[in-house]
Amino acid sequence: MHLYPIKAGNFKLDGGAMFGVVPKVLWNKTNPADQNNLIDIAARCLLIERDNKLILIDAGMGNKQSEKFFSYYSLWGDEDLNKSLNTAGFHSDDITDVFITHLHFDHCGGVVTWNSDKTGYELAFKNARIWSNQNHWDWATNPNPREKASFLKENILPIEDSGQLHLISRDGNDLSSSEELGFDILFVDGHTEKQMIPHIRYKDKTIVFMADLLPTVGHIPLPYVMGYDTRPLLTLTEKEKFLNKAADEGYYLFLEHDAHNEIITVKHTEKGVRLDQTFSCAEIFN
Ligand SMILES: [Zn+2]
Repeated sequence: MHLYPIKAGNFKLDGGAMFGVVPKVLWNKTNPADQNNLIDIAARCLLIERDNKLILIDAGMGNKQSEKFFSYYSLWGDEDLNKSLNTAGFHSDDITDVFITHLHFDHCGGVVTWNSDKTGYELAFKNARIWSNQNHWDWATNPNPREKASFLKENILPIEDSGQLHLISRDGNDLSSSEELGFDILFVDGHTEKQMIPHIRYKDKTIVFMADLLPTVGHIPLPYVMGYDTRPLLTLTEKEKFLNKAADEGYYLFLEHDAHNEIITVKHTEKGVRLDQTFSCAEIFN
């Protein structure tokens, strides 16, 4: 089994929105804002190579939106999904499975692209099964007014039309194990309905793909919850439970959105769970 970080580009988001009720004087220490109050955000995906399968977890925001749309997100850096796959030695046609933690545009936009004459959409991964779950799919296809701007029709409907959509079933345990994908999945509801958090056994380690349960190192203290979350109090409870377990078990947390910290561990302190060590992907995926 091999793991590869796949960089689907960097962007920026409003620091205030990323930290909810926490004042800027506090969050600005870990996530310094630019003159427009924007903070650095990555779209760091994860590729798992195992038993003739190539499983991509999340796919960034893609490249089909308008210039105006992208201007809101201040793209930076020269990384992109296909380039990063090529660097790892692969092509998008090689991908057998794309696992979407949730259908917000910055996680699934890269799954759908323009067709060759730009008259419609097609999937960027023509040989892959695309994984979501029924509750989240229903939630995303009938969006509430707050999340509507994050669930874009052009990202979701082409997946359904392609016939490549597969829905993960849940086995009722805290951690549902997926035999087809070969990892365990934690379902959480604070950020959005049934976001999926993969727990991957790699050598003697458990690597957890944090998605929007813990976007950056700055979000470790419990009240540091994104303004985007639909159920912030639930995020707090879910994060507390998860971080305690992560500290107890020595999990390695793969941070999708932290532009400056790739993988971290956490530890118990008097103030609660806090950052322990920071690693590059190269150190852990050797
Ligand atoms: Zn999200």
